Amino acid sequence: MEKKQYQLGDIVQMKKAHPCGTNEMEIIRLGMDIRIKCVGCKHSVLVPRAKFESKLKKVLRSASPNADQAEL
Ligand SMILES: [Zn+2]
Repeated sequence: MEKKQYQLGDIVQMKKAHPCGTNEMEIIRLGMDIRIKCVGCKHSVLVPRAKFESKLKKVLRSASPNADQAEL
């Protein structure tokens, strides 16, 4: 099983869109639990890491400048 790479500040896409219709979440806290904020409505939720990883579809934009070229 492939391990997904993500870090603080990344914009991620979840398997299920947020009720507001946006499917982009920003990682604003990384720990045992992960806090993600909806890019659309700014609502934030705290989810256990295991649950987050099972619901994560893909990382859309990485906060790391060394990853793929991010738009500035
Ligand atoms: Zn939302």
